Amino acid sequence: ENGPRVVLSARGLRKDFAGFTAVNNVDLDVHHGKIHALIGPNGAGKTTVFNLLTKFLAPTGGRIELLGRDITRTSAARVARMGLVRSFQISAIFPHLSVLDNVRVALQRPGGLATQFWRSLGALDRLTPRAMELLASVGLDGDAERLAGDLSYGRKRVLEIATTLALDPKVLLLDEPMAGMGHEDVGTVSDIIRAVARDRAVLMVEHNLTVVADLCDWITVLQHGEVLAAGDYGTVSRDERVKVAYMGT
Ligand code: ADP
Repeated sequence: ENGPRVVLSARGLRKDFAGFTAVNNVDLDVHHGKIHALIGPNGAGKTTVFNLLTKFLAPTGGRIELLGRDITRTSAARVARMGLVRSFQISAIFPHLSVLDNVRVALQRPGGLATQFWRSLGALDRLTPRAMELLASVGLDGDAERLAGDLSYGRKRVLEIATTLALDPKVLLLDEPMAGMGHEDVGTVSDIIRAVARDRAVLMVEHNLTVVADLCDWITVLQHGEVLAAGDYGTVSRDERVKVAYMGT
């Protein structure tokens, strides 16, 4: 194969809400090993695109492919099992469980890496090595025995990502993973997302343009439900229409 592999694509994606077109004719390609940002002003349609891609919403028009298969009419549950996972699908972490138990529970979920055999036995102990491996991959192994509720805000978000990885996603959709974080946590989470994207694809909504510039390989800018510009950060940040959309003039 030549060039990076497209793992998720949308063509002519459209969503109407009672006569209002929230998403119109959106094309998008998400590549294995790359981090793709979806940006745009409030109301641009970012959340709706996420909901369409994950099949939380049925598109009014267009076509979506995941790993070369048409998923335009596939259920959300099935799409998740095929490897398209959104962060908040597990983001309700259990504050009264340990960090380790949060990941072990996630491994046992449908689509999680635990086999049906271990799930039915409820053999949480058997999942410890895999859970610790996942925690180590995001730098949380030192916190394994702590209550999830006692983690800092940034580390809770990292734990959310770890529980998402328990589903072994091929494409990971992250909705504002840095929201509300201080500088240090942003750096930590950026490193984690970079590591996660090495053998997966990541599509993220992110408002912090410094983060986008630093982290993302490709950027799709939405405005009024349409793609205003797409390209690497240098390209889209020089685009006059993008400047106008962001400066509001
Ligand atoms: P963003 O995430 O970029 O802020 P959204 O996707 O949330 O934008 O919204 C895009 C547009 O679609 C907005 O004008 C919003 O009001 C509208 N919208 C979103 N969801 C619905 C819905 N369920 N019914 C009607 N309009 C909606």
